[in-house]
Amino acid sequence: MRKIKKEIRIGDFVIGGNNPIRVQSMTKTDTRDVESTVNQILMLEDYGCEIIRVAVRDLEAASKIKDIKKSIHIPLVADVHFDPRIAIEAILNGADKIRLNPSNINDKEWIKKIALLCKERGIPIRVGANLGSFKEKPKNLEEALVESVKKEVQILNSVGFENIVISAKTSDVLLTIKVNKMLSEIFEYPIHIGITEAGALRDSLIKSGIGLGILLNEGIGDTLRVSITGDPVEEVIAGYNILKALGLRKHGLEIISCPTCGRAEVDIEKIVNKLNVDFAKVNKSIKVAVMGCVVNGPGEAKDADVGVACGKNSGVLFKKGKIVRILDGNEIYDVLKKEIESVINNN
Ligand code: SF4
Repeated sequence: MRKIKKEIRIGDFVIGGNNPIRVQSMTKTDTRDVESTVNQILMLEDYGCEIIRVAVRDLEAASKIKDIKKSIHIPLVADVHFDPRIAIEAILNGADKIRLNPSNINDKEWIKKIALLCKERGIPIRVGANLGSFKEKPKNLEEALVESVKKEVQILNSVGFENIVISAKTSDVLLTIKVNKMLSEIFEYPIHIGITEAGALRDSLIKSGIGLGILLNEGIGDTLRVSITGDPVEEVIAGYNILKALGLRKHGLEIISCPTCGRAEVDIEKIVNKLNVDFAKVNKSIKVAVMGCVVNGPGEAKDADVGVACGKNSGVLFKKGKIVRILDGNEIYDVLKKEIESVINNN
């Protein structure tokens, strides 16, 4: 059951409450390079990214937010560390949300100044703690993380600022789960979840799948980011895949494909990979089955909107478990593609 948190507006979205759990990513470009940053954000938008965070490392990067925002269509979060003046500049240049790291921005007066400006402009602040930024490794990691969030939230609250999102990420899955459960008990603010520094694609998918999966299944998490050392598009795809696996969002193609066995006579992996490329940007929800043989295929994938069970020289097209057409072996992919397009267009 979802833990219902305070609703917070970020750009055109409201997060928290019963609103959809939003998928975020972060650009990997130099934010001072407006063209590259905009291009990357537009590509991520195409794949369904709903909130984008950019690293704002200096005042010049903060000043570019204005230009970046002219060309993008999703809310932009300015990620600020160390220097509070950068946060002020980012706000003045139109950032939709500010992420502050409580371990390295902890000057009370500056935090209050940032909060008052955000309040004036209706911009939320994410208090985003992570382990990497503690000067010395604390003895009790979970308490240290929770305390650091608490302290920063108290400063924000002291000037009547309530437009807050919180997060605490570590690269340790179990620790992150524990800390987020504690935060969820303490605060009514929405929580952004993620496993940070989770590694390259394969490692991150497992760590993030387990970490975010457990938290989401316990109702914790209002926005998420899957951190991957690699293409940010994969972060967006992975974010949706985790949500889809838990039945929390519907987004794009869901492929049910068999693992293949000695009965398979067709390269099923190739078909599935091609589908993933051809339909990567679809945002309507559709279930497609690709099965390796006619013996078990249609029966095992009964709830697919459309599917094929493949044989070497022939196959079958089926819809909701019912065979609707016998196919020649060489037309399987093309027919499947057309059928998927027609389901999408009629959806
Ligand atoms: Fe094997 Fe057919 Fe099952 Fe695929 S659908 S795993 S090929 S029995």
